[in-house]
Amino acid sequence: MQLVEFTSKGMYCPPADVYIDPHNAVNKAIITHAHADHARSGHKSYICPEGSLALIKLRLGRHIQATSYPYGQSFSINGVEFTFFPAGHVVGSAQVRIEYKGEIWVVSGDYKVEADGLTEALEPVKCHCFITESTFGLPIYNWQAQDTITHEIKHWWQENKENQKPSLISAYSLGKAQRLIHMLANEPIGPVYAHSTILKTNEIIQKLGYALPAVQPIPARWKENEWAGALIISSSLATGPWAGRISPWQKAEASGWMALKKFRDRHGGASFVLSDHADWNGIIATIKETGAHKVYTMHGYDKALAQWLQSQGYDAAAVSG
Ligand SMILES: [Zn+2]
Ligand SMILES: [Zn+2]
Repeated sequence: MQLVEFTSKGMYCPPADVYIDPHNAVNKAIITHAHADHARSGHKSYICPEGSLALIKLRLGRHIQATSYPYGQSFSINGVEFTFFPAGHVVGSAQVRIEYKGEIWVVSGDYKVEADGLTEALEPVKCHCFITESTFGLPIYNWQAQDTITHEIKHWWQENKENQKPSLISAYSLGKAQRLIHMLANEPIGPVYAHSTILKTNEIIQKLGYALPAVQPIPARWKENEWAGALIISSSLATGPWAGRISPWQKAEASGWMALKKFRDRHGGASFVLSDHADWNGIIATIKETGAHKVYTMHGYDKALAQWLQSQGYDAAAVSG
């Protein structure tokens, strides 16, 4: 039974008449997490994991009609049972387990395997069919442990501090920013500042009870040399008048794409390979843990991963065809 169909509006579960992370406006949407490519505006009603509700409202507005469920608590639509499970991607992110007439499918959404200490850790779920993301689904993507990357970033920060320079890292305002703050601000080398967009997100996450260290807003006016030795986390580099006043700063990018030389060269500055998505081994291990024989791959290297899975005997296909 095809519990999820891939339509022009996105993933659709016919017996429940509900979409999952749809990209066009629909009546009823189940949302895996608050990132913009998953939680879009314009749906009539939203169903999301409990930890994502406030973050989705921050982005789409308080007026949206939304219901939320904690991880592990099932809810039923037209006799189809849905349950959210942690995806380990960003705070509040979920996979969606769908059960109907004995058939079980899981939509992974975005996920990461390594527990980052802040986000709920990924919980692989047994199923017949697993719809997995494949953003980094090639063997060249092989992440190092978070502790190693923390050490690398701190080394860079320390060096900049010794040279009286500020360190600037650009990061998504939801996910990477909080992960970096958690990694770096618990035992900081100098003061840590973050852009106001990040601070708004932090406030919600702290209210939800996550152990996210407090950081300071970027001052409108810096005092003399206040920025020397500071770490500044911004959602986009060198935007805002504050950036010009603190040069020369040292910049860095922390992303899975920094594994590729062409992205490192384009970016310049320091680069750290840090992703909120699973790497090749993480994807393969997760697929194995689900016990699924049928696998759909989505995003990034979907075709390459599907081909490899076929070579291993899986009934696999890339959603993009
Ligand atoms: Zn995401
Ligand atoms: Zn995504």
